[in-house]
Amino acid sequence: MTVKLRPHHLLCFLTYVGKGYSPAFVENYDRIASRLTAGEDIAIVDGPDDICAPLLGSRNAHCTGASVRVRDAQAARDVGRLLGMTVTIGSRIANTPDMVRMLRSAFHEGTLRPACAGCEWSDLCTSIADHAYDNVRIAPAAI
Ligand code: SF4
Repeated sequence: MTVKLRPHHLLCFLTYVGKGYSPAFVENYDRIASRLTAGEDIAIVDGPDDICAPLLGSRNAHCTGASVRVRDAQAARDVGRLLGMTVTIGSRIANTPDMVRMLRSAFHEGTLRPACAGCEWSDLCTSIADHAYDNVRIAPAAI
């Protein structure tokens, strides 16, 4: 099995602390957090992914919006550069503790943050990274 993630969720999962758009969203995200912590690999998909799933019936869902696709493209570029691979639809990313630590370190340093521009959660994610990823739900927490 693989966890299906759109590219910008390679950043979002780094700072997941159990907050989200709705109880159903958080409940689903917690299940994905457990799978990622267990080391399931990641498959990159186009558009809505396993994290988005509970939002898709909502009138306000932004999952297919143009700005989110721009965010995906930026994240794919920056993560790919960091990991030394092409991150594109169909890519499979080995979910190792070292990979997650590398992403968290770069996220904290700001290298991966261009994709976060304009995101309503940005201050929260910055604060979590600034506090050494304390209380994140996807291990390994330390960087
Ligand atoms: S700021 Fe937004 S896009 Fe960036 S990691 Fe946080 S939730 Fe994801």
